[in-house]
Amino acid sequence: MKSVSIFGATGSVGQSAVDLIARAPASYDVIALTGGRNIAQLAADAVRLNAKLAVTCHSELFNDLKALLAGTGVEVAAGDLAITEAAHRPADWTLSAIIGAAGLMPSFTALSHGRTLALANKESLVTAGPLLMQAAKDHRATILPVDSEHSAVFQALVGEDMAAVERVIITASGGAFRDWPMADLANATLAQASSHPNWDMGQRITIDSASMFNKGMELIETKEFFGVDPSMIEVLVHRESLVHALVGFNDGALMAHIGPPDMRHAIGYALHWPQRAELPVERLDLAKIGQLSFEAPDPARYPALGIAADVMQIGGLAGAVFNAAKERALDQFIAGQIRFVDMAGVVSRVIDTMLARDGLQNARITLDTVLEIDALARVRADEALHELG
Ligand code: NDP
Ligand code: MG
Repeated sequence: MKSVSIFGATGSVGQSAVDLIARAPASYDVIALTGGRNIAQLAADAVRLNAKLAVTCHSELFNDLKALLAGTGVEVAAGDLAITEAAHRPADWTLSAIIGAAGLMPSFTALSHGRTLALANKESLVTAGPLLMQAAKDHRATILPVDSEHSAVFQALVGEDMAAVERVIITASGGAFRDWPMADLANATLAQASSHPNWDMGQRITIDSASMFNKGMELIETKEFFGVDPSMIEVLVHRESLVHALVGFNDGALMAHIGPPDMRHAIGYALHWPQRAELPVERLDLAKIGQLSFEAPDPARYPALGIAADVMQIGGLAGAVFNAAKERALDQFIAGQIRFVDMAGVVSRVIDTMLARDGLQNARITLDTVLEIDALARVRADEALHELG
């Protein structure tokens, strides 16, 4: 029996993990499930999976969640601190699938106890990669990537020597606007940006796929997790979203990972690692699919990629600034305060001003400095909004 905790259980990734665990309830002892606003789902899953603890990050929802779980024996807690407290509880396998920088604390806490962390929350590595990797080393913890591209790279590297790796290629679908005339992007609506051609994901990451801020985050995630030089990482637009990543070796071989666009593959791989186990995902019929296409991303259409490349070069706390500015710019777009095409402008402006005024390169990366710069970057992003307006 494996004990598991799921942070962000009510989200898109979290629900895929709940689905896998619900298919084999006798194999899992569910320690904690956490969620946010969707306490009805949280309570239902806590009962269904016989979880010991259910936590919402919103303290004001404590009484409602308590009422939903009355008489079930599931312990209830609420608030950010309660989420961190849940991460202190022993579990063999912890899934970090909260969205945004809020995922950092549970990721870091699980690693500091030497746990096995299945990491979907890419923001953890973008904001504090060196801190997390060091914590994993110090406490002999294991990080298993759950982001589909990184799971693909991880799988392509099994049995390989990193010294023989020449390049790592992660693919991108191109998002909702890949075929739009550039001039139309300025008028892209929230609903249009929120629909993905291939993947069914949470709204925020779907919009980040249209802008490729998601791929920019994944470039940084690749650098931090696999410890490769930024010059070795490439992005390819691959419309079919079937080849998730490729690893190029010094003998010219490219190992590609091909799989259905279903997060249950990457989650399931991390759940059963180092074994493989049968998973309820589609078996691809390549003859029917017929063709796989690849093209270089257009830097003008996707300025987020260039910003992310700069952030990797700057290093230090630039990733935390990038992520926080991106999260605020996304909030602003969702709130109708800026246009789709303005998000990149807000993010570069924040990075430029903070680089000039606050110095990011040489700052020490600790939990405190990351949280502090994150808060500052959000304020700067709001200032940038006013400057734009
Ligand atoms: P969702 O928005 O679907 O879900 C986010 C989860 O986090 C929900 O459980 C939500 O609760 C909870 N949550 C939201 N805000 C907070 C907060 N401040 N504190 C604690 N919990 C919070 O996100 P996704 O599942 O799409 O993505 C989760 C992570 O996985 C992200 O880092 C994303 O980049 C990454 N990822 C996602 C993929 C996907 O297919 N969706 C693919 C690869 C990576 P509630 O909904 O109840 O409010
Ligand atoms: Mg991904």
